[in-house]
Amino acid sequence: VDITPLLLSRIRDVADYPEPGVMFKDITPLLADPAAFTALTDALATVAANTGATKVVGLEARGFILGAPVAVRAGLGFIPVRKAGKLPGATLSQAYDLEYGSAEIEVHAEDLSADDRILIVDDVLATGGTAEASIELIRRAGAEVAGLAVLMELGFLGGRARLEPALAGAPLEAL
Ligand code: 5GP
Repeated sequence: VDITPLLLSRIRDVADYPEPGVMFKDITPLLADPAAFTALTDALATVAANTGATKVVGLEARGFILGAPVAVRAGLGFIPVRKAGKLPGATLSQAYDLEYGSAEIEVHAEDLSADDRILIVDDVLATGGTAEASIELIRRAGAEVAGLAVLMELGFLGGRARLEPALAGAPLEAL
């Protein structure tokens, strides 16, 4: 069955959030619907299996909500990539540019090894800046990127084209 209509029906458009002119895709109705949340988790777990991933990396914060059940369903470990300053252990950091200013993400370096193939999971691919930084972070930690899987890609923002060099042939799956 094609789960796309179910998933789309559970995503709410919120106008002018977080600022005027932005149409925010709110996934909380999907999370609240067990049929939709389960279908999404199963589909992302299939991507994890197909890419031969050994671990799932979730991007703070909604990538945690989606990535953790995917890891459990696929029988894989889960690694959080967090905003700077949240992880207690020794971290690797990656800075990246935002429209205004910059941001920084971190991972516990010891969670990743050269044997790992990582599926990165997030809810929405917009400009691709967050995903691009996470790919760089994972590579610098010595692991391989098996792919990037998102619920939704905002195609008009060009994230897929931006990520092409960083993905270097690894798949980008947008459900
Ligand atoms: P990017 O770095 O690709 O521009 O932005 C992607 C990040 O911002 C993701 O972590 C995603 O959670 C968040 N994001 C950007 N736009 C939206 C949106 O419309 N809806 C949701 N749920 N997240 C968004």
